[in-house]
Amino acid sequence: MTANVSNVKIEDMQVPIGINADSGTIDGNLKILHSLLDRFQWAGFSAVEIPVHGVGCILGGRLLQVQTDRVKRILERYPFLYTVHGPDPVNLCDEKNPELHASALRSSIDFAKAIGSPLVVYHGSYRLAEPERVEMEWVDEIERLKRIGEYAEKQGVTVAVENIFRQGNEHTYRIDPRLLAQVVGAVGSAKIGICFDFGHAFLSAQEEGFSYSEAVQAVLPRLVHVHVHDNLGIPMAFGPCENGMKPLDAFVLGKGDLHLPPGWGKVPYGNVLPDVVAAYKGVWMMEIHPRFSDAYEEGIQWLKDTITKNRRFIKP
Ligand SMILES: [Zn+2]
Repeated sequence: MTANVSNVKIEDMQVPIGINADSGTIDGNLKILHSLLDRFQWAGFSAVEIPVHGVGCILGGRLLQVQTDRVKRILERYPFLYTVHGPDPVNLCDEKNPELHASALRSSIDFAKAIGSPLVVYHGSYRLAEPERVEMEWVDEIERLKRIGEYAEKQGVTVAVENIFRQGNEHTYRIDPRLLAQVVGAVGSAKIGICFDFGHAFLSAQEEGFSYSEAVQAVLPRLVHVHVHDNLGIPMAFGPCENGMKPLDAFVLGKGDLHLPPGWGKVPYGNVLPDVVAAYKGVWMMEIHPRFSDAYEEGIQWLKDTITKNRRFIKP
């Protein structure tokens, strides 16, 4: 069926849909990277997010050029658009050695440039809660992100700071997309934007008590990347029985950051996607736990159908 919006046929609109190459699955083994890329191509994805740590290209904060060249030769055999996920533990606010962490983030940017990726995802910074430091708010973080933005600009790469849910006893802007938008706005760099993770924000909204739709509205002006997955909106309590629960057990109880295929959980995509589809022109990057890889084709179809449906409501 064909519908017309502003004289453009919806069936002609390309929807770039991507998938994460799971860092733990690859764990430095490039034969596994190969087989994952084959599977992604077979499923019909057009983009892949490469974890720079998963493919073993950073050691001690520095880029390993020989390994990067190996990875590049593999990636070049496939027709995908690539984005990069930075290492999860990197924290620009690290109390002991912030320069090591900044170096690892700059190396992630170098890796992105080397493989022709326009974008690196960064998980945001945090401090252990210290009342006297809280008064400083995020002035120092804004300055650090400005310097990263200058480096990213030189390399022609965008850094997308991602929202995540609370990780223990931390003081951070990354658990509230509205605060993340304030920090990124204050940085004011053309090369520092936001990666909105729909699943993380849903868990955070339950845990921190903010409005999900307000959070989405706050990030739209600086949105450069998205992570699409699903969960049941039940935060995992931190404690001896819950923290560290194996994914297969968490799935049985429906708890935590399940990274389900979109449509399997309760993330209210229907409420927020009309505005996101109207504002966002980047890749729709699914971030699905590898145990659900049999549902890749189903996820692609869900996204295509959902985005197309919401495009019909965009006013010319
Ligand atoms: Zn994510």
